[in-house]
Formats: sequence, structure tokens, C-alpha cells
Amino acid sequence: MTDFAQFYRRSIDQRDAFWAEQAELIDWHERPRQICDYSHPPFARWFAGGTTNLCHNAVDRHLATRPDQNALIFVSTEVNEERVYSFRELHAEVQRMAATLKSLGVGKGDRVLVYMPMIPEAAFAMLACTRIGALHSVVFGGFASVSLASRIDDAEPVVIVSADAGSRGGKVVAYKPLLDEAIKLAQCKPAKVLMVDRGLVAFSRVAGRDEDYAAWRETHASTPVPCEWVDAEHPSYTLYTSGTTGRPKGVQRDTGGYAVALAASMKLIFLGNPGETYFSTSDIGWVVGHSYIIYGPLINGMATIMYEGLPIRPDAAIWWSLVEKYKVTSMFSAPTAIRVLKKQDPAALKKHDLSSLRALFLAGEPLDEPTARWIADALGRPIIDNYWQTETGWPILGICNGVEKAPSKFGSPGKAVYGYDVKLLDEHTGEELTGHHQKGVVAIEGPLPPGCMQTVWRDDERFVKTYWKTVPGRTIYNTFDWGIRDEDGYYFILGRTDDVINVAGHRLGTREIEESISSHPGVAEVAVVGVADALKGQVAMAFAVLKDPSRAATAQGARGLEGEIMKIVDEQLGALARPSRVRFVSALPKTRSGKMLRRAIQAVCEQRDPGDLTTIEDPTALQQIRDLVAPG
Ligand code: AMP
Repeated sequence: MTDFAQFYRRSIDQRDAFWAEQAELIDWHERPRQICDYSHPPFARWFAGGTTNLCHNAVDRHLATRPDQNALIFVSTEVNEERVYSFRELHAEVQRMAATLKSLGVGKGDRVLVYMPMIPEAAFAMLACTRIGALHSVVFGGFASVSLASRIDDAEPVVIVSADAGSRGGKVVAYKPLLDEAIKLAQCKPAKVLMVDRGLVAFSRVAGRDEDYAAWRETHASTPVPCEWVDAEHPSYTLYTSGTTGRPKGVQRDTGGYAVALAASMKLIFLGNPGETYFSTSDIGWVVGHSYIIYGPLINGMATIMYEGLPIRPDAAIWWSLVEKYKVTSMFSAPTAIRVLKKQDPAALKKHDLSSLRALFLAGEPLDEPTARWIADALGRPIIDNYWQTETGWPILGICNGVEKAPSKFGSPGKAVYGYDVKLLDEHTGEELTGHHQKGVVAIEGPLPPGCMQTVWRDDERFVKTYWKTVPGRTIYNTFDWGIRDEDGYYFILGRTDDVINVAGHRLGTREIEESISSHPGVAEVAVVGVADALKGQVAMAFAVLKDPSRAATAQGARGLEGEIMKIVDEQLGALARPSRVRFVSALPKTRSGKMLRRAIQAVCEQRDPGDLTTIEDPTALQQIRDLVAPG
């Protein structure tokens, strides 16, 4: 055990020596010549000159030592299926998928969009891409056609890998019609669509474009596909995330830095050892799924559980039965899932032997103290919060128990993690706040450590403009989160500084939802804000001005319109973006210069004081909202 404070200081003050040591955790084809090239800030080139491969590190390198050990454990309580792949079997499946992608014309640097439910073939597709140096771009299966189309146009994939359907709560969700519609909407058409047919729902095929994976898998039953050695800086994937503007950003990740960062985090933060089992309840459509369902555990030689289903079906003991059955040592979930479980009978958590479990890690949204206490008591295991973003790919704040055991504090995700030079900045002056309990913007002094976002896909300028602020001699990354730090160096996250909301751990841009609602022909103007919710953390609430206000004059008319608008959001973006309510008003509160007062709307919805309103143009606009949301 090392002293964490010393370990942390070294990661900042002797950055290259520190990361050179961590780089030993992965296999390199050629060793890096330089650890960090930061000659063009804010762009950091990690492990320049080195060549490696993510799939090799996740799969092939374990063949010598643990070929028959479990690698991928697929459990679906939706279709009652359980499939376990050893590293040897995973290797064979990934090669079949890789050979298929090559046959369909995918080469190094090409993009493959993956629009799939939580099935093993999705993991094979991701690993097959990195194996051949292609970039995967996974789009969460809950997104609908307009969201999907914008991602297709940005990624310009050669091939899209998809499936007939997913299933949620026992209800089949057909993917193919959404995909067909998205391709119709997109400017850029993929050459091929590779379909995994689960036999859940019939679907139509487009001749010459749609290919059947089962047939290709036969063709390539034993075609060897060696790993393509790529530069450490070769992009491994893009993953879209929401920001202030409606257009989602493609977060681009490298290869070498990502592999090293994940390998180190598995040991130092997530307490995982080779040969053990890791269970992350996220989805491959999110960053947690990329880092801690697929790459992190596999790189660390662990078995990983891929779970399709709800935490409470068939009953609230299902996850814990998997912990017992597969002797899970580390588990990773989100506070919303725990709040869902909290509504169930706590006896469900006591039914199974959880002695293998070292800790439950939670991230993605604020972890409230009652939820943390409840799950800690119910499980009798340490609950460890950690804070990060799609952009960083691994924790910024956390408790590095693999370095030195440290207590968690309720409500805090922990201290700055090694490699991250975290600062709190004054909102107005940009000056660093060094005192305790001062509220500021959470920022990171460049360079970002290995594994973080390289750039915005094909848009370096947007990367620089969105995230970085340059003060003489320094570049500083903005997380867009508010935070405070206590006297022990523990941070507390107080919410976003921008128009991003967090619904059940899913990040959504309010502008995206506004754009979708505005496409309803009856809507003149709309504002969407995130409002605190006891179960989901936040929900989206919409306030719309109608072109013809008489349409919402009766309660029935308003309800009908609200339903129409929600249906549009469902169809365009997906149900996860659907506002909890759409209310109709005659005007929206704005400043005299025309800026929408979203924070004031949000405050009023949460029954808080909206603060300084001296610049408001029409105070009755806010009063209307206050009247609408008044309790009772
Ligand atoms: P995403 O990119 O979807 O992972 O969302 C990242 C955002 O989620 C962060 O910027 C925070 O606003 C929020 N977030 C993630 N983890 C935590 C956490 N442990 N505590 C509080 N907020 C969190």
C-alpha cells in the first residue's frame, strides 16, 4: 500500500514517470517513444510512437493464461437466455464478426455504427472493430430515428450492425423500423446493414443492403483475423453525448491511452483482479458500458456480465442472485437503479450470498444520502461513488482504495483521482478557488490524463471552443459541473452549469428536446428544463407557447396536445427524452435582450427562489409557470 496523497502528487508532478509505470499493465507491439506529447495544448498525444490493439489486450493476450476462464457472461431475463463465453470462445466469435465486417468492406479507420440491444453480438461487434482498427460508434438502443440519423450523418459509417429487436420489461421493442427510418432521414447512407436476427420480431430486408449475420458467421466460422497493430493515438471509437447545442458531440477516444487508463483503474479504483467477475448494470450505449462492461474488465482478465433486463424482473433479487452465482467481486450501477430497488422488499437483498462482493460502485448522477445509506445497510458492503463523464471515459473523482484504503463520505464522490489536476474556478473571474466549501466550476488543468477524449470527432475547433479555456501558459478543461471541496479534499457535485439534464443517469440536452417539440406544427416556442425528481434524479419538463392558444383552452384539448407532443419526442428521440409534462403558457420568461430564463423556470418548478429577476421582460410569464406547478 502506498500513501494516496503521495501517489496522487506523483501522478501530477512526475506525470510521465507515473504513466510510464502504468503503461506496463498492457501489451504493446512497439513500446511508446514518448509518454505525453503536450506540445499542442489542449491536444494531448499519449504514448506517442507506441503501437498496440485494444482487442488484443481485452481478448487475445489472455488466451495463453486463461483460455477456458469465463470472459463474457450474457444473462437476459427478457428472453430467458444465459450464454457464457470463455476467452477462447470470445476470441473465436470476435474473429467471425471481424471477418464479416472485412467482407462487407470495413477497413482500418472506417466507422461501424452499432445500434443494438444488450446481446453478446454487440460486444463481438465492438471488439471486432477495434481488432481491425475500425472505429465503433455505439448508439444507445433507446434512441429513436431522428437521434440515430444525426449520429449516422456525423459518423458516416460504412456498415451498421443492428438486430431485429430488444426487449424491455417483457415488451419487444423492434429496432429495424427505427433504423430503416433513420437511414431514410440520414444524408449519408451506409453501404451495408448487418442484421442479427434474434427471432423476436419479423422484419423486412432491403435487398443489396441488408445482410444476415447468421449466414456470414457460418461463412467465417474459422477465418483467422489477426489484430491490426495501430498507433497509440489511433481512434478506437466515437460515442455521442449531449451538450448545450442540439447537435450531439462525437467524443473521440484513442487506443493506447484508453487501454492503460482502464487497466490502471480496474486495479486502483475498482478493486478487480484477473480471474474474478465484474458486473456493471449499465448499457453498452453509454460510456460506462464501453469502459466497464466491455474493455476495462476484459483488459484486466476478468469475466464480465452483460445483463439484458430490469433490476426488478422477475423480482428484486435478480442482480444479487447473479452476484452469488458468478461470485461477482465488483459491481457497478447507477443511483436510479438503487432507488428503484429501494421501493421493493429489502428482504430480496438478503436472500443471496453476497460474500464475494468487495464493493458496489455507483456513478452517473448524484448519489443522495438516503439512497446510499439504504443500499449500504441492505447489502452490508461498501458503497463507493465516483464521478466522471463520457468525455473522460473513467473516474475524475473517486476513492482509490486500490492505492490506499480511505473512507467514503455520504454525498461526495470522493477526491481527485490520480492523473486529474482538478480545480474549482470562480464562475465569473475564472480564478481558482482554494478555500473550503466555496462553490465553483469543476475544472481540470490540461493535459487530461490518458483515456480521456482526444477531440470532438472531425471537429477540433468545437473541442477547443467547447471545453477549453486558455489563460497565459495554461489550458483548463471545463466539466460544466458545479462543485465544492471540503477540508479533507473531498468534492461534492452540485449539478450542471449548462443546459444538460440528467434523467436516471442518462445525459440529455434540453435543446435537443426543445428542437423535437418545436417540430410539432402547433408549437410556436418551447423551453425545456430539468426538474428534481425523487426517483430519476431529474425529469424534463416542457413549457410551450402555442401558435393557436385556443387549442389548449380546455383541459381535454391540452391533454390531447400534450400526448401528441410526447409522441413526437418518442418517435424522434426515444422515450428516454420524453418530458414528464408539457404545459402550455402564453409567454415564456425572457430577459429584455431575449434570453430564455431557464434557470428561473427550473427554480420555480422546484419551488425555489428564482433569484435576481431585474432583467426579466414580462414577470407574468414566470407567474404563469408558478401557478401551473404550484403544489395541490
Ligand atoms: P455522462 O457523460 O452521461 O456520464 O454524464 C456526465 C455527467 O453526469 C457529469 O457531468 C455530472 O453532471 C453527472 N455525474 C456523473 N457522475 C456523477 C456523480 N457520481 N455524482 C454527481 N454527478 C455525476
